[in-house]
Amino acid sequence: MLISDLVDVVGFDHCLTDPGLRTGYEVDWTGRYRGHTVAVLRPGSIEELAAVMKLCHDAGEPVVVQGGNTGMVGGGVPLHGELVVSVARLGNLRVISNLSLQAGAGATLAAVQQAAASVGARFGVDTAARESATIGGMIATNAGGMNVVRYGPMGDQLIDAGVVLADGRYVPSLLISDDDLLGHLAGSEGTLAVVAHATLAIGPTPPDLAIAMVEVPASEIEAVVGRVGSLESVFAVELFGAREVELAAMGIGRSAPARADWLVLAECRSDGDPLPELQAAVGDLPAVVATGQREGGELWLFREALTESVARLGVPHKYDVRIPHGALNDLRATVETAAPDADIFLWGHAFSDRQRTPLANVHVNAVGVVDDEAVFDAIETLNGSVAAEHGIGTAKRHRAAAARSDLAELRMLKDRLDPKGLLNPNVLFPPQ
Ligand SMILES: Cc1cc2nc3c(=O)[nH]c(=O)nc-3n(C[C@H](O)[C@H](O)[C@H](O)COP(=O)(O)OP(=O)(O)OC[C@H]3O[C@@H](n4cnc5c(N)ncnc54)[C@H](O)[C@@H]3O)c2cc1C
Repeated sequence: MLISDLVDVVGFDHCLTDPGLRTGYEVDWTGRYRGHTVAVLRPGSIEELAAVMKLCHDAGEPVVVQGGNTGMVGGGVPLHGELVVSVARLGNLRVISNLSLQAGAGATLAAVQQAAASVGARFGVDTAARESATIGGMIATNAGGMNVVRYGPMGDQLIDAGVVLADGRYVPSLLISDDDLLGHLAGSEGTLAVVAHATLAIGPTPPDLAIAMVEVPASEIEAVVGRVGSLESVFAVELFGAREVELAAMGIGRSAPARADWLVLAECRSDGDPLPELQAAVGDLPAVVATGQREGGELWLFREALTESVARLGVPHKYDVRIPHGALNDLRATVETAAPDADIFLWGHAFSDRQRTPLANVHVNAVGVVDDEAVFDAIETLNGSVAAEHGIGTAKRHRAAAARSDLAELRMLKDRLDPKGLLNPNVLFPPQ
């Protein structure tokens, strides 16, 4: 009965019950999280989304919200048999000015970047998942990415949002919401409301560019990252090691441009050549430098190829951890000790916010046999957090209390907005 009512709302073509059609929505892109659902609903308008949510609510049916399904922590797949509500078709884009635009939740990051570029502006969040990750999913996970040191994570770009609540009520703007849902939406992982659309900040791109891949010995990594991170013109500071650059080089069929304990890939932009200040920050350390978009892109290839290159070695265990800069040099050995039967590869963003707090978001990949809990414990011995920018999802619910300090507040809000607990019921909050 529920399914036929849902078909009436979204149409037969967008209520996927055929196993062959559902399958891509039931498993995450890494293949690590696989669930099962009776139906995938693909509403094509906010009205349809609201009607779908109301029907599910009235029937007491739990739902999982899905955007581009590029998430890393199993939050967007129906691991407990929930219905899947995919917002991928809500992809409308409207540029308001060169300072803001409105995006449907299903708009991809790449589409938003292109819309911003069409008015000579830039969107502040960038990740290698840009062709598939959606604005709704990125808000839900408070995605960070390459430019977090400059612009902060997704929540920092959010001016307003329209949402559909668990019971199907549509709230077109959160600017005057009593319970500060807007302030809590980024990072709520689809547990508080379904993002339907968002108004996002965009801004001008400074014209002059300098990119350097710097070879940094372990003894200098903290100081170099600190100096580069303090530059006015800094746009990105990425970190990886010798074995990662070799892996990427193999993946893209080139030879590695640099080798050292650490490679720091730094991008600076300003009105006026940023190269002198970047060079001053790295001192006389060896570096490959580019001042044009094309040559800079060649250096970025080594960073961007890492995710796919490691996936070719097997299905990696992926850990997204936040580590104090002072612990960077201990990270590899600590994880290797905790996972002696796996090959460890690590890379990531040297900063996790635009205040440039000395905390790095590092993606640790372990290929082989691993006890995840041993790795999580090891990270905590470094005063690190086991969740950085990918969220808690279902994968780390049992560690959520240590990783998020706002959990009690979010729980109260969820109980108010979704008292039946139907929206992403197995995500973020520890199992009760
Ligand atoms: C190659 C690659 C590189 C990546 N790099 C980065 C990176 O640098 N930084 C980073 O932070 N992440 C990165 N990611 C992870 C991923 O892209 C992000 O977590 C992204 O925000 C997920 O967006 P999505 O649309 O795919 O969401 P999904 O995977 O579909 O869902 C993720 C979570 O958001 C919820 N959700 C989805 N849509 C909505 C909505 N409309 N309303 C409410 N909740 C919703 C889901 O229920 C789920 O809990 C990367 C992923 C890949 C594959």
